[in-house]
Amino acid sequence: MNNRTLSITFDDGYEDHFHNVYSILSGYGFPATIFLTVKYIDGYWESEKAEGGRIKGLSRDQILEMQNGGLIQFGSHGYSHKNFLSVHEEDREIEIRDSKLYLEDLLGEDVPFISYPFGACDDGVKNIVREAGYKAGFTIWNRKPDIYTIPRVPFHAHDGLKRFRFKISPLYYPTKSIFRFAS
Ligand SMILES: [Zn+2]
Repeated sequence: MNNRTLSITFDDGYEDHFHNVYSILSGYGFPATIFLTVKYIDGYWESEKAEGGRIKGLSRDQILEMQNGGLIQFGSHGYSHKNFLSVHEEDREIEIRDSKLYLEDLLGEDVPFISYPFGACDDGVKNIVREAGYKAGFTIWNRKPDIYTIPRVPFHAHDGLKRFRFKISPLYYPTKSIFRFAS
C-alpha cells in the first residue's frame, strides 16, 4: 500500500449494491468489501426516504454470485443494525458473534472484518469483536484509530463531484481536523 491506495467499502447490503455498484465495479475491475446486516438478507429495510417506505436487501443468491465473481469480499455489519453502544451485553454478543457465524455459514469462508452500525464502538465493543475472532473493525469515527477502529471517509448520494474529489484527496483528514479543532 502507498498513499495513493484506497479501499472501497459499502455498508448495509442493499439490493442496489448488486444491480448498480457491482456492475460499475466490475467494469473497472475494482475490488470492494460489502458489510452485510444479516437480518435484511432476503428482506426489506424500512426507510422513510425510500419509495414505498422500504428498501430491498441483497438476496443470498446475489451475495453468492458476487462472491463467485472474485471482486467482492463480505464483512459483518451486525445482526440487526442496532447501535452496539445502546444494546445489552447479551444482544451485543448476538450482533457481533452470531452475525459472523451466520455469514461464514453462508459464504463458506472466514469473515475477518466488521463495520460498526453508525460507526459506534468503544473498548467494550472492541473486546467482544476481538474475542469473536475478527481481525479488524471499521468505523466512520475518526478518533484514536487502531486495527479495531479503522476510520473511513463516508460518501453520500448528495456529495457532488467537487466534494468527492476533496474527500479522496490527501487534504481531507488534515482539513477536517482543523475544522473540528476550530468548532
Ligand atoms: Zn449501516
